[in-house]
Amino acid sequence: MGETREDVYDEELVDYEEDDEKAPDSAAKVNGESAKKGYVGIHSSGFRDFLLKPELLRAIVDSGFEHPSEVQHECIPQAILGMDVICQAKSGMGKTAVFVLSTLQQIDPVAGQVSALILCHTRELAYQICHEFERFSTYLPDLKVAVFYGGVTIKNHKDLLKNECPHIVVGTPGRILALARDKDLSLKNVRHFILDECDKMLESLDMRRDVQEIFKMTPHDKQVMMFSATLSKDIRPVCKKFMQDPMEIYVDDEAKLTLHGLVQHYIKLTEAEKNRKLNDLLDALDFNQVVIFVKSVSRAAELNKLLSECNFPSICIHSGMNQEERLKRYKGFKEGQNRILVATDLVGRGIDIERVNIVINYDMPDSADTYLHRVGRAGRFGTKGLAITFVSSASDSQVLNDVQERFEVDIKELPEQIDTATYMPS
Ligand code: ADP
Repeated sequence: MGETREDVYDEELVDYEEDDEKAPDSAAKVNGESAKKGYVGIHSSGFRDFLLKPELLRAIVDSGFEHPSEVQHECIPQAILGMDVICQAKSGMGKTAVFVLSTLQQIDPVAGQVSALILCHTRELAYQICHEFERFSTYLPDLKVAVFYGGVTIKNHKDLLKNECPHIVVGTPGRILALARDKDLSLKNVRHFILDECDKMLESLDMRRDVQEIFKMTPHDKQVMMFSATLSKDIRPVCKKFMQDPMEIYVDDEAKLTLHGLVQHYIKLTEAEKNRKLNDLLDALDFNQVVIFVKSVSRAAELNKLLSECNFPSICIHSGMNQEERLKRYKGFKEGQNRILVATDLVGRGIDIERVNIVINYDMPDSADTYLHRVGRAGRFGTKGLAITFVSSASDSQVLNDVQERFEVDIKELPEQIDTATYMPS
């Protein structure tokens, strides 16, 4: 602790190397202001109160947002003043709009200059964030946004930067670093530096190293914002090294991270019983779209094959497939072309698919944090949803217990009958 942003510029990574371990599951209790009762946490004030540009307000109305969520109410007024922000708020509560709106509010596009850089950990999330920027900048026609990630020919990105330099760049660290090192992407005019799912990005040493190298290429004087649903006490000081006197918004108690619109159950069964059970559930439950999480790429492919053979409208996404295919499938699912997605943790975080109302953990996640992110794919923005977790070993039970203790949620065995009204959005 006690380090400042100067250290991030001046020092090598030595102090980072040693703490690449998993953060302990400590309960967070910080400046607790922000968590209030009521699960949706919508604030009664309107977006108008933020005094945003009329072009932005128009886009907000178009997108159907009526009231800011609590996290938006807390963060946007400070963020649009250029303050550094570190923010933890539960999944699906509209953190993306905090940085999208506050960046768009502040940017004055200058031709040939990248003013804002947003980094995140997966390509799908980068694509989604870029899409949010496009949606809210509909009435700012001069503003250009672009997304860069690996798996796409780098020449396309280089050409785009040369011919049509965007003002806002969203991307994953590897590709952004490659473009910046090759001097195709100039970061010297960046005034807003944003990390989404920041704990994920800074916990992994490789990604942290890339992020830091990119960070060092940006000017000293800029706004830094970081967001996640999970920010352990251990990772917070690491985040803060990139910031100057940030506004800190943390939910005051991990128990508040539970999504109250979400009904959560478990089923005890053996590994061999999983397929039969899954089949039965998919037949019996009412769902708009469902995401089934498994623990490996090969299991994702296998399970998807099995479901397709049983005539379920299923697809899978995992890191084993090429980028084009991955994105095509992701877009297709988001648009509702398939109702069942079998996936690895690749889409466990950040991904926002409105129609998903059921998450099934076919394989237990490796930690309570991962559980929280995964089930947060259902019940977005306070809507109803259902999460069902298969428990087939002692270590699975351990993770389930951790979840219940840390987030103070009582997860009961799946009953014989479950009332559709409890999880199906009306
Ligand atoms: P988070 O990043 O906190 O997990 P997202 O930013 O992905 O959550 O937002 C979740 C969903 O809620 C998105 O579909 C988003 O468009 C929607 N949303 C965000 N803010 C509002 C709002 N003020 N009113 C209505 N819907 C909103």
